[in-house]
Amino acid sequence: MQPFERIDMHCHVVGNGKDINKVDEDVYFNPDNSPNWFTRILYAMIEHDLKSSGVKPDGSQAIKAADYFAFIGKTLAESTEIDSIVLLAMDAPYDHVTHERLDDITTLYVSNRYLSEKVKLFNEALDRQGIKKRFYFGASVNPNRINWKTELDYVINETDAVLMKWIPSVQHIHVEGSHDEFYKALADAKLPLLCHIGPEYSFPEGVRDIDGSRLNPSNDLDRFGLLIKPISCGVTVIAAHCSSPVFPLIDRDETLKFYDFMKAMNTGDNIKIWADTSALSLSSED
Ligand SMILES: [Zn+2]
Repeated sequence: MQPFERIDMHCHVVGNGKDINKVDEDVYFNPDNSPNWFTRILYAMIEHDLKSSGVKPDGSQAIKAADYFAFIGKTLAESTEIDSIVLLAMDAPYDHVTHERLDDITTLYVSNRYLSEKVKLFNEALDRQGIKKRFYFGASVNPNRINWKTELDYVINETDAVLMKWIPSVQHIHVEGSHDEFYKALADAKLPLLCHIGPEYSFPEGVRDIDGSRLNPSNDLDRFGLLIKPISCGVTVIAAHCSSPVFPLIDRDETLKFYDFMKAMNTGDNIKIWADTSALSLSSED
């Protein structure tokens, strides 16, 4: 065993549930949410990787959550590189003015109740097999929900959540908006915010404008400078992807600017912002 725990803290969950009102029973996935060629390329890459790892798609560009979990469980059990994995819930997008859930543009919805229970079961199974590895639960609560407080209380008080996951462009979250109470609750619970920054192509919503369908690869909601707000409210932030380009010919490379931002934020004794290096390999295939 290593002297420290090696954790992959950015592992999304997929599935093929079709009923958005049954998200506590299955992962909801809608591949028909106007995919564009950016997301098609990424979905094809993911499908290829999963197939070559022995996972069978269900014939409609999706796989069952159970098959995906079996694959992730086997990967963790056999890995010599990691000791644990944080599995991520994914809340739906909600309108930031009306607080309505935006079902038409929801691609993936992984509920906190569903995933936190699954994580418990997976850990019990690892224990039964005598495997000293762990899954952790990464929660996702959209602050635009009318009932965000109830959902956040549930996550903090009734689950073993280790972080809060947001993709602002996909979930229509204005990071710099008036979410001070939400941020205070995260800070008090010492729950870090794993927040996507930089280009986002995994979900169609990442490349759409909020008000229409114009492609918007440098999405305004995913800018790293916005993280000043949660940091100033005492939240520890983990910046997913380090603002790195996905398609280097299209995306600006802001990695060095982000590095300067981190240095400016991390003065004093406490580290306020961490970099999550997941997906850096996406742009370094040369
Ligand atoms: Zn992510």
